[in-house]
Amino acid sequence: MERYSPRKALLRSIDTVARDTLVYRVELDEPLPFKAGQFVNLAVPGAKPRGERSYSVYSDPASPGVLDFCIKLFAGGAASEYLRERKVGDVLDIRGPFGVFTLPEEIEPVTFVATGTGLAPFHSMLLEQERLGNRRIFRLFFGVRAEEDVFGVATLQRWKQSLNFDYTLCLSRPEAPEAMKEGCVIGRVTQAIADHSPEGHWYLCGNGSMIEEVRGLLKGKGLDRKQIHVEKYY
Ligand SMILES: Cc1cc2nc3c(=O)[nH]c(=O)nc-3n(C[C@H](O)[C@H](O)[C@H](O)COP(=O)(O)OP(=O)(O)OC[C@H]3O[C@@H](n4cnc5c(N)ncnc54)[C@H](O)[C@@H]3O)c2cc1C
Repeated sequence: MERYSPRKALLRSIDTVARDTLVYRVELDEPLPFKAGQFVNLAVPGAKPRGERSYSVYSDPASPGVLDFCIKLFAGGAASEYLRERKVGDVLDIRGPFGVFTLPEEIEPVTFVATGTGLAPFHSMLLEQERLGNRRIFRLFFGVRAEEDVFGVATLQRWKQSLNFDYTLCLSRPEAPEAMKEGCVIGRVTQAIADHSPEGHWYLCGNGSMIEEVRGLLKGKGLDRKQIHVEKYY
């Protein structure tokens, strides 16, 4: 099959993992080899301007025939409304893989900064690193609005044991600030990284304003632009 020709993706499961945030698991008619950090385009009937939306693969590249996607649904969004109506057993059309937001072997330490479902490419990368038994230093700053928006913490906790990994969960508007657990801070990721040393490579994924702010901060601290990698969702 041609590399970017559409593939049929059978929806195997749909799990709500946080507020309006779902993990869709699909089984492909033919495996789609991809690199951790890459994305696919989902056909969305009627979506403007191009009838497609992009989604980073959330799962380990070791399983190219079964892919997970972690997707936030928005009221009125073309893809969001389309996906909200989908049921297990439905068939989606996807194309890919696309993108160069990937993790070369030789770089260290690596700091990931994600807002919301911007965690997806890092989730795929770290699942792969865990499987390979890699001991590189990884650090994650993960920002969401409130407790209801948090997902993936059990996996982040596991990676603290299985990888050379640590994370900071940043809640910009927590409902119960007094009940925040260890590893959690109040505020945006930009505040959390402000005092952090800018060594190694930085991977930023999520909303554009966070990306521009963090990029500016890192450059201001003298980090070379070649050490800053970005994937802007919107
Ligand atoms: C390379 C790439 C990879 C992406 N991977 C993912 C992914 O793994 N998971 C995912 O949930 N989204 C991802 N996105 C965003 C996704 O492509 C869509 O933009 C999103 O699903 C909204 O589409 P829509 O048609 O429902 O809404 P639209 O009608 O296109 O937009 C609705 C509104 O939602 C805002 N918006 C879009 N995405 C987000 C978001 N993630 N968080 C907050 N606000 C947002 C837009 O600015 C707009 O105001 C990715 C985007 C790119 C470019």
